[in-house]
Amino acid sequence: MKRKIVPKKRCPYCGKYYTPYIRAAKTQKSCKNISCQKKHKRKLQKKWKKDNPDGFCGRYVKVKAWLKKHPGYLAKYRAEHSEYVNKDNRGRRLRRLKSKAQNADIQDTLFIGKIGQIRNIKTADMQNTLTLKLDGLLDIMFNRNAPIYKTHGQFRC
Ligand SMILES: [Zn+2]
Repeated sequence: MKRKIVPKKRCPYCGKYYTPYIRAAKTQKSCKNISCQKKHKRKLQKKWKKDNPDGFCGRYVKVKAWLKKHPGYLAKYRAEHSEYVNKDNRGRRLRRLKSKAQNADIQDTLFIGKIGQIRNIKTADMQNTLTLKLDGLLDIMFNRNAPIYKTHGQFRC
């Protein structure tokens, strides 16, 4: 039996040519590179979310009603599936750390931007320039810890 030759395809994410897996030759959209597969998955999820704008809305209402009818279910489930609970907690901890690091990056970027703006302050009066620069620095010193994204981490439908 002659082996079927699969024509090479070009990956839309990295631009390289690849030989698709023989059983998925017609449907495979990206190369075997993990980052390309993740990009493709993200693209599909984005499309699905666009096509189903309220795909996840209203689910928790049903779950909440069901849980009210079955008191103690979650506590029992958590007690019986400690490995799942640990995995869930670990994931939550990692997501929180990741988001904290991203927020720190945003804070640093904003801080550097503000410092740059203060450096560029120039007026005809030298005294006025110094006053404006000092005011800018004092603003940064007293507002730096103010939260930037109050809605961060909230699920929006
Ligand atoms: Zn690729």
